[in-house]
Amino acid sequence: MSAPHCRLCSAPLVDTFVDLGMSPPCESYLTADQLDTAETFYPLHVRICARCLLVQLPAYIDAGDIFSHYAYFSSYSDSWVAHAKGFVEEAVGRLGLGPDSFIVEVASNDGYLLEHVVHRGIRALGIEPAANVAEAAVARGVPTEVVFLGEATGADVAARHGAADLVVANNVFAHVPDIVDFARGLRRLVADGGTVTIEIPHLLRLIEGNEYDTIYHEHYSYLSLLTTQRVLAEAGLVVVDVEELPTHGGSLRTWSMPAESATPPSAAVAAVLADERAAGLSTLEGHAGFALAVARVRNDLVEFLVERSRRGETVVAYGAPGKGNTLLNHCGVRSDLVAFSVDRNPFKQGRFLPGTHIPIHAPEALAEARPDYVLIMPWNLREEISDQLSYVRDWGGRLVVALPRLEIL
Ligand SMILES: [Zn+2]
Repeated sequence: MSAPHCRLCSAPLVDTFVDLGMSPPCESYLTADQLDTAETFYPLHVRICARCLLVQLPAYIDAGDIFSHYAYFSSYSDSWVAHAKGFVEEAVGRLGLGPDSFIVEVASNDGYLLEHVVHRGIRALGIEPAANVAEAAVARGVPTEVVFLGEATGADVAARHGAADLVVANNVFAHVPDIVDFARGLRRLVADGGTVTIEIPHLLRLIEGNEYDTIYHEHYSYLSLLTTQRVLAEAGLVVVDVEELPTHGGSLRTWSMPAESATPPSAAVAAVLADERAAGLSTLEGHAGFALAVARVRNDLVEFLVERSRRGETVVAYGAPGKGNTLLNHCGVRSDLVAFSVDRNPFKQGRFLPGTHIPIHAPEALAEARPDYVLIMPWNLREEISDQLSYVRDWGGRLVVALPRLEIL
């Protein structure tokens, strides 16, 4: 790969935000017979553009490879389905949408969100690049186009279906390599007086919470409201309002309109921008402390695990989420330090974590092994999981989280 350039402003990327070394793609769980074959590792070197401040990971892995075989069905997560339903209610009320309206969702997955639009008698269209996932959406009554959104495909869809009153792009914006072409696609899809909503993990929360395990190859851009505004401006869209959400460790939901028809930005926009400025996100230097904070997290976790090993105590992991793989690979943890992981997802059981080759068992394995420590990987669910795992204390076991800092609960 030649020297990377900024995907927003094309300036050469010379400054590092954080370099997490080499890691395999975080969702590439291995079967037993793959353990003795070569495994491909890619850089996780996150840069920051000195000119426009976009924090970004170069597209080390082709997005077509990832999304065309995407195995994740959104409806499998109860809390996510509830989040989608709440969003539809809010958007329909706020924008006064009715039977004559048209809503398009980009990265519509299996139709878990647009289903609520269809039920309200509002015309809906999904855009989803993974054909097998789109089929599931069509089966539940959500018309879906199998295509990657860009300026050309956005214009094509709008020509055939009409422009939309609302275009929804929740949790996809940070995951497209050519973010400017994608934003122009959104502009092509939306009507001149229409609205575009985007949800993104908020860079401010990532930095405040040391959430570096949310860095992985499919997550190309790490956005603040400031840089989101800059990307959307390239496509002729203006952010008119913003909400702060607790999802994904802290997210933003922006409401944007075409520049020609945009209403003045709300007080919330000014407030979030002021928070970002106060945290240093309006300057290059303001981003400099993150790499040090990450090194501290790694040192604390490795020291804890080595010390347990010296004492002959056992540590296992609870949960095998994709993002846990960033942490374990960055810390160089293998099954000598974390004996195994357990996960409720049957697809993952019997497989091995990419890179670290830590085996994944069913949750019942915890009570059989009676480990001294259980490391909770989805730290954002620590309260809920601590309750589920209260039985670990029956044999004197303790629960641990590594983020935002190492803590024995
Ligand atoms: Zn730039």
